[in-house]
Amino acid sequence: MSNNTKATALITGASTGIGAVYAERFARRGYDLVLVARDQARMETLASRLRAETGVKVDIIAADLTSAADLGKVEARLRDDAAISVLINNAGAANPGGFEAGDVDAQDRLIRLNVTAVTRLSAAAIPRFLKGGKGSIVNIASVVALAPEFPLGMYGATKAYVLAYSQALHAELGARGIYVQAVLPAATRTEIWERSGRDVNALQGVMDVAEMVDAALVGFDRQELVTIPSLPDAAQWDAYAAARVAMLPNFAQEHAAARYKG
Ligand code: NAP
Repeated sequence: MSNNTKATALITGASTGIGAVYAERFARRGYDLVLVARDQARMETLASRLRAETGVKVDIIAADLTSAADLGKVEARLRDDAAISVLINNAGAANPGGFEAGDVDAQDRLIRLNVTAVTRLSAAAIPRFLKGGKGSIVNIASVVALAPEFPLGMYGATKAYVLAYSQALHAELGARGIYVQAVLPAATRTEIWERSGRDVNALQGVMDVAEMVDAALVGFDRQELVTIPSLPDAAQWDAYAAARVAMLPNFAQEHAAARYKG
């Protein structure tokens, strides 16, 4: 890699919504881009505009991340392209309905998109990032990771994985130059609601997508591990995190707790 090679950000789910705003913001920061999603035409339109407006290089990989073959193409790019220093795991979806009439094949596809793709793409980038001693992985989770009762079926569970996965990555790799950020948006005005058969206009407190991403990028620049753009009082998250950590030394015991003994 020559010294004047610019850094590149690979962004999944970049054809619309949160990913498209990330693409725009990273282009304005001077990053070359690799855009990943299924809708090639939409990505071409975004890429042409960003090339014209910012002069950065924009590549497109049309891929369905629920397909192992397509996912493999993106993994290969992450493994082989030495310019990629930022991975934004943003592609994601929710399913219509909940568990009662739940389609288990649709649930399996959602796990492949929201969980497996995040895991495999990160795994593809990590060895190279470790070798170079730097790299950033941004995982778009959701506040529903903390609110699994919210009526979105198993969506919250997939996002709880993304949060825990990000925390685990940070714990193991944070000190070795890899910055990991879990972003937990609350309701944000994008197509995800309509795509899963829900009416975003029926919700209260929906944030504009640009405002959400700009706040997440403030957290990125501060190298926060967990960024919750809408939470007014950061002390609430700190208290939640502290309560969890306070339990940890008490888990490992030779005997069951007294309340479980006859
Ligand atoms: P969106 O507007 O529906 O965009 C989703 C993006 O993911 C699109 O670019 C879509 O592109 C891509 N995508 C969907 N299925 C894909 C597949 N099988 N393979 C490859 N790409 C796929 O949704 P969004 O709100 O921007 O969502 C982005 C992320 O934010 C998701 O992880 C979501 O769970 C999370 N989030 C959203 C909200 C919210 O209220 N909007 C709140 C919390 C978290 P194609 O259709 O072209 O493939």
